This record gives sequence, structure tokens and C-alpha cells, in this order.
Amino acid sequence: MNAFEATNLYFGRAASIMQLSSSIVRLFETPQREVKVGLTIEMDNGDIRTFQGYRVQHDNSRGPWKGGLRYHPHVDPDEVKALASLMTWKTAVIDVPFGGAKGGITVDPKDLSHAEQERLTRVFVDKIHDIIGPQRDIPAPDVNTGPQHMAWIYDQYSKIHGHTPGIVTGKPVDLYGSLGREAATGRGVAIATRQALLAMNKDIVGATVAIQGFGNVGTWSASILASMGARIVAIGDASGAVRNSDGIDVERAIAWTKKHGGIHGFDGGHSLKDATAVLFEDVDVLVPAALGGVITRDNARDIRAPFVVEGANAPTTPEADAILHEKGTVIVPDIYANAGGVTVSSFEWVQTLQNFTWTEEEVNEKLERRMIKAFDTIWRVATDKKVSLRTAAFIVAIGRVGKARVLRGLS
Ligand code: GLU
Repeated sequence: MNAFEATNLYFGRAASIMQLSSSIVRLFETPQREVKVGLTIEMDNGDIRTFQGYRVQHDNSRGPWKGGLRYHPHVDPDEVKALASLMTWKTAVIDVPFGGAKGGITVDPKDLSHAEQERLTRVFVDKIHDIIGPQRDIPAPDVNTGPQHMAWIYDQYSKIHGHTPGIVTGKPVDLYGSLGREAATGRGVAIATRQALLAMNKDIVGATVAIQGFGNVGTWSASILASMGARIVAIGDASGAVRNSDGIDVERAIAWTKKHGGIHGFDGGHSLKDATAVLFEDVDVLVPAALGGVITRDNARDIRAPFVVEGANAPTTPEADAILHEKGTVIVPDIYANAGGVTVSSFEWVQTLQNFTWTEEEVNEKLERRMIKAFDTIWRVATDKKVSLRTAAFIVAIGRVGKARVLRGLS
């Protein structure tokens, strides 16, 4: 099963409980637009290379398409379609006025210099500028992209269309970005974790946590969970994994990772045998915060954490989801758990369009309120309908997107 089929399976499960007709199911299974572009740049050594870029606009019933751009060797049409669909449901669950999109380039950015990444990003904008726009489709960071890429996109788009900082979110704070955006996905993950524990009468203070993936989402999740009183006992990334049952000093781990390019060798704990071992730790909460498809049919039985909070997009395959559900594991689903990023993206968009700024406290407080409200809504639906939190989140999202589509009309 590929990533898009998996997403449609989750969607279909909720759609059948809602008794949606097959024609409506088909409507929401089909992205509104899929664009594939060839991106040719000159490398620093004078060679010419061509890369493949994608933008998929899944649904805009509730507002402009919205979603990140990912630079990764695994980016392919199915993955981008799946992630675009997840954005439609994510923006609806957290109730920000956007639809869903996603894009990416099939490339390992580690193979490119800074200047090559800039040229590639600018060529990508040249190829897709006529289908994006601040009221049409607003890209943002995703795996291996960040504020610098957004600055290039803003600059290149503005060369064609005139000054348009609202074209992207996740911009540098010095260039129309929002305070709190960089930490937002991790902050949302931490709030989601706290709310899920609370709903099961458990306390975040003293809860043990394992973090798989230590990039933007993993580092901020760990840091904010630790500040809430949780104990981060294991951290893993592509380079390796570390455990310390007394609690890892997260800020030191972040500093180490920045300096050495990965957690491998960190002296604030002992090394685990391999990078994936972190998934199977005996902890209260597991936060997969890297790529999709890491919890599979083959390893789901070995997951010991009673709570899995999906910081990454699509980390759990449907087969694994079923196994975990059977075991009684509470999965806090990606379309809610990592929605903090796009929530603060919506705050950034509002600030940019109106040319004013909110304080970091205002941003964090508004994010917190939305995360809590969405959790309560999902929890209520899950309890009422006796379904998983994932199915409940899809039910809430499909209800909102469906209502908007009906009110606007079909064409
Ligand atoms: N890439 C992030 C996500 O998957 C953020 C998207 C956005 O801010 O538009 O939710």
C-alpha cells in the first residue's frame, strides 16, 4: 500500500461511519490539481542537473490551498498526494481557514551547496508561480526546508508579481515571519501530549518520553515537553540513538546535534544499538517526529509506549495502526498532533497581510487555545462514536470540509 492509498484508507474509514456516498468519497479522494515540473540548474562545478518538483493542491473548499515543501530523495507523486490530502484534513481539524496542498523536490539537499539550493528553489518558483499566491496557495517549510528557503521563494515570487510577503509562511522573523512559528509544530505536539495524558487521568509531570527524529519537530517537542515537566529518556535520529533514564538534558542534546550534525556520540546518556531502537523504549509516550512509515506491521507489536503522539506526518501505516489499536495504544493522530505548525502559519499569514506583529506570548496563547479546543472536540467524537482518535479527527475534518463544499456548490 502506498502513502496515498493509506491516507485514503483512513479517510474512507471515517467516511463510511459518516455514511458518505461513494461519489462524495471519490470527490475527496481526488486532488484538485497535480503539477509536476522539471527543474534544471547549473551546479557550482558547471555541470547541468535536472530535478523533479511537485505541487499537489488537494482541496480548497475552506480556503486557499496550504502546505509545506519537502526536499527529500523519497519525494514522489504518491507521497505528495498523501501529504496534500492530510493537509486538507489537518487545516479543518484545527479550524484554520485553509485547504490542503503539499509540494516537494526529489533531492537530497545534503548533496547541494547553499547556492545550489537557492538556484533550485528559485527555478521551482519560476515553474509554479502562476498556480500559487497569497489567496490561492501558500507554501511553507516541511522536511529539509526552513525560513531561508521561504525567504528565497518570497523574493523570487516578488520579482514576478511585485512585493508579496504573504506568498509563504515560515519566513525568517526578520523578514515578515511570525514569532513562535519555528517552535510551533513542537509546541503543538507537546500540548497534544499533555491533553491526551490528561484525558486519561495522567500527568505530564514525570511522564517518560522517547523522541524519534531530532530535527525541527523533534527538538522543539522535546524541549517544550521537558519544560512542562516530562522526562525525555530517549532520543534517536538518523545518526543514532541515546538513552538516559534519569532524563536527557535536552538543551545540551540540541547543542550537540547542531555541532556534530546528529545525536550520535552524545555524552549525556548511553548509545542504543541502532537509530530505530528508540521506537521500542519502555516509556509513557513515543513521539515519532521524522519521516512517514516508520511504525509498520513488522514492528508495531514491539512498541511499548501506551501513547504514540504523531509529530511526523503519516508515521504509522494502517496495518500498524490496527495492531496498536488492538493493543489499546492511544494514538494521537498526525492531522491533529502536528497541526501547530500550520496553525501558527495561519497566524503569520494574518500578520503579514495586515502588516502588524503579535508578541510571542500572544501567538503561543492563541495556539494553545486552538490545540485544546480541537482536542476536546476530537475526544468527544471518539467517545460518542467509540472510534479511535484518528477516525474521530477525520470525522470532524470531513464534516467541516464537506459542509464548506456544499455551501459553496460543486463547481
Ligand atoms: N509542513 C507543515 C505541515 O505538514 C506546515 C505546513 C504549513 O504551515 O503550511 O503541517
